[in-house]
Amino acid sequence: MSLSIKTPLLESLPLSNRVGTKVWMKMEAMQPGGSFKIRGVGFAFEQHHERGAERFISSSGGNAGLAVAYAGRRLGVPVIVVVPQTSSERARSLLKMEGAEVIVHGESWFEANELARSLQTAADAFIHPFDDPLLWTGHASMIDEVVADGLRPDAVVLSVGGGGLLAGVDEGLRRNGLVNVPIYAVETHGTASLQASISAGQLVEIPAVSGVATSLAARQVCRRAFDVSEERPVIPVQVSDREAVEACLTYLNDHRTLVEPACGAALAVLYGGKVSLAELNNVLVIVCGGSTAAIESLLTLRG
Ligand SMILES: *Cc1c(COP(=O)(O)O)cnc(C)c1O
Repeated sequence: MSLSIKTPLLESLPLSNRVGTKVWMKMEAMQPGGSFKIRGVGFAFEQHHERGAERFISSSGGNAGLAVAYAGRRLGVPVIVVVPQTSSERARSLLKMEGAEVIVHGESWFEANELARSLQTAADAFIHPFDDPLLWTGHASMIDEVVADGLRPDAVVLSVGGGGLLAGVDEGLRRNGLVNVPIYAVETHGTASLQASISAGQLVEIPAVSGVATSLAARQVCRRAFDVSEERPVIPVQVSDREAVEACLTYLNDHRTLVEPACGAALAVLYGGKVSLAELNNVLVIVCGGSTAAIESLLTLRG
């Protein structure tokens, strides 16, 4: 049995009315762990497990770490997650609830990641949050499900952090013959590392990341995400932190599902009418989800 589940594909009337065409939502917020991450992480986990990995290590205090912890609990394999001191109490307690050993180390992700890497022995597997072909192949299954449900979208809207979701959706679209479907790749202004690389015409690192969309905070996207932007139409779009948070709250009222600002960013493009899609017939938005934002923090951020 697969670690990820088949998620609903729902038509959104509020978003369809706003955009002027049919908008379909792939409800990845309903995955175990609360985000799409378990698709790729679960797939990678099972591959390593079959090859004999006895312990799994992650340095993600976010949804990727949660997915690794969930997979470990389900398969009865120990998981260590090293998180920096800046990680939230909520993230740590969610990881512990999944049964992971949580080690708090270092001032930033960089130090946490170094310790995580140093703990790794030959019997361990390290699961990267976005830069691994196994992850992309796992993520691609969400597009297989969309096509099996009878939808062949003529545009996809999704959020971009390190670009693993983008790489996986591209793989899914390609393996279903949807080679030229444009992808609207959404970042917040403070995390626009894909935009920076597309503008530069090469893979670049941005000096810093900032803002509320912590799950999008990668200073550089993976090479594959940049290559995808050269191989098919990828349209980078940015939204403000405020727009991302507002979109989460509007989305909660419209669809009764709480998502992180990282996911709100993609929704904000549709709610804000930031790109014109009315000429198309079926727009697919990946509701990527996320467990790290509580309703209180969203209300505080909105002010
Ligand atoms: C990881 C994550 C993203 C970004 O995915 P990447 O593969 O890093 O681009 C977006 N939203 C949520 C909720 C996530 O957990």
